[in-house]
Amino acid sequence: MIPAKFDYVRPASLTEAVSALAEAGEDAKILAGGQSLLPVLRLRMAAPSTVIDLGGIPELRRIGADDDYVMIGSMATHHDVVRDDLVNEQVELLAKATATVADPQVRHRGTLGGALAHADPAGDLGAVALALDAEFVVLGPKGTRLIRAADFFQDYFTTAIGEDEILTMVRFPKFGGWKSHYEKFNRTAQAWSMVAIAVALKVDGGTITEARVGLTNMGNTPIRASGVEQALVGKSADIDVAKAAAEHALEGTAAPSDADAASDYREHLAKVLTGRAVLAAAG
Ligand SMILES: Cc1cc2nc3c(=O)[nH]c(=O)nc-3n(C[C@H](O)[C@H](O)[C@H](O)COP(=O)(O)OP(=O)(O)OC[C@H]3O[C@@H](n4cnc5c(N)ncnc54)[C@H](O)[C@@H]3O)c2cc1C
Repeated sequence: MIPAKFDYVRPASLTEAVSALAEAGEDAKILAGGQSLLPVLRLRMAAPSTVIDLGGIPELRRIGADDDYVMIGSMATHHDVVRDDLVNEQVELLAKATATVADPQVRHRGTLGGALAHADPAGDLGAVALALDAEFVVLGPKGTRLIRAADFFQDYFTTAIGEDEILTMVRFPKFGGWKSHYEKFNRTAQAWSMVAIAVALKVDGGTITEARVGLTNMGNTPIRASGVEQALVGKSADIDVAKAAAEHALEGTAAPSDADAASDYREHLAKVLTGRAVLAAAG
């Protein structure tokens, strides 16, 4: 289908973008890579009066760091993230998970910010952001606000970004030296996750000293697997520990049933994949 008619605005600065959003009101939609928004418009599941394209603001695509954080502009594409040395060194789990997103065409257009703002429960990057305690920087008419990942994902396709706000940057604490793995189970290569597990471990002399675990597509939002994390810390990184920790994978989950999988199958997958992900991360 052809989208309903809309006005198209391409601001050249963030200030212009925030004003355009305020002017257009609640019927406006922000356009990042368009990989999720355009299908939604074509299916007429949304009919915004104005589309505000962030593609003309180069600063939104920058990736940099300070002493504590790697800061990724919301318009950095998945391809940018996968290829970036800083991200691979300091936030390896994000690079690994992003490499599993879709196919090269989508990764060249789709953006980190767009994927997280879209908040599809099957999206691969939410569980990573949650497990790694990422922080979301949003800008609106009242200025900048920082949202913790734990508060960002509110429900199915719903985040804490206000209607008059733009996600400008996602910052990740540095995890240099940690080991990580993203275990994704999908029906066909390059498809969305049926279930996936994000794991980052700090291992010292064979003992896991810190653990971060996030689950994809096991509820309306990404889920932090705190029970699994607690079961890993202080233990050796071996198969029995991984299996025992995986028994906690379903805590706090509400697995959906859909055309891809029934909820009980997802629950089975979550446990098996958690064990695999922990072992793979531990090496
Ligand atoms: C064929 C196909 C397969 C895919 N497979 C996967 C997959 O395996 N795993 C996965 O995780 N994803 C997958 N995706 C989704 C992909 O990751 C998209 O890139 C992502 O969902 C949306 O990013 P985008 O930059 O294209 O955002 P857009 O489509 O432009 O925007 C998405 C939504 O976010 C809002 N938005 C965008 N940027 C901002 C911002 N800066 N501030 C506030 N709101 C904003 C928009 O208004 C819109 O509502 C797939 C997509 C396609 C088309």
